[in-house]
Amino acid sequence: MEVKLAEHMGFCFGVKRAVDTVYEQIKNGKTIYTYGSIVNNEEVVRDLAEKGVRVLETREELTELSEVGQEAGGSGAASPASVIIRAHGVPEEIFTILQEKHLECIDATCPFVRRIQKKAEEESRKGKHIVIVGNAGHPEVEGIIGWCRGPVTVIKNEEEARKFQLSQGKKVCVVAQTTFNYNKFQGIVEILEERGYNGSVVNTICNATEERQRSARALAAEADVMIVIGGKHSSNTRRLYEICSEECAHTYFIQTLEDLCLELPKTARLVGITAGASTPNKLIEEVQNYVRINF
Ligand code: SF4
Repeated sequence: MEVKLAEHMGFCFGVKRAVDTVYEQIKNGKTIYTYGSIVNNEEVVRDLAEKGVRVLETREELTELSEVGQEAGGSGAASPASVIIRAHGVPEEIFTILQEKHLECIDATCPFVRRIQKKAEEESRKGKHIVIVGNAGHPEVEGIIGWCRGPVTVIKNEEEARKFQLSQGKKVCVVAQTTFNYNKFQGIVEILEERGYNGSVVNTICNATEERQRSARALAAEADVMIVIGGKHSSNTRRLYEICSEECAHTYFIQTLEDLCLELPKTARLVGITAGASTPNKLIEEVQNYVRINF
């Protein structure tokens, strides 16, 4: 049985940069908080927690932290902690809170996500209605919404695109969540164009995502079994799973090596492995070695 890895997979540039930032800051001996989990991978988050990194889940937790900081600092100017912003980015108001409370902020927003936030801000200042093709509630999407200066709508499928209503005379600016499926994005844009909406479309789907999706599909098409590794809350990993399932009937989604208790088909000749953008190399190697040794 042959085991083959997808050409592109695992940590993308933005996630690697954010995770490296956290490990760098740990070395400095500070108390580190991340605003939300730094990656959608429980293994990495657990390792960071063991090293003392705490996760702020909500805006309220951040506000409370700043109050503690002011008491601890005495004068209110000193901060006992650093707050790291993850690759997904955050709404502008989070930076405002950090600034007002004099908390040290280390911004690890992925530059590609920052580009979308800036675009949404600029175009909405010009009066355009911002359409984000993506999943409402996803932190990256919530972050982008938080930079808009006017109306904004999140559209996740063609049905929502057909129902979308634009105020008369308004123009749209369409952007995409970086991890959105490219074909679905195209389908939604076509519907908006057919409906005669004027404006601009910026394909902000990240290359890392496209490359991972393309190489996952290519490998799944030739593999007898596909293993997709990633966090269960990671939308890009779920997308890889969907794509691989379309091409390969025996596709498995695993989070850790412990999930890998597979009964592989006896006739399987080629096992393909791919991994979401939040999956560390170490885990990919472990899975690869396990499959090589055990099947
Ligand atoms: Fe940045 Fe792309 Fe990674 Fe998103 S998928 S964090 S945009 S490099």
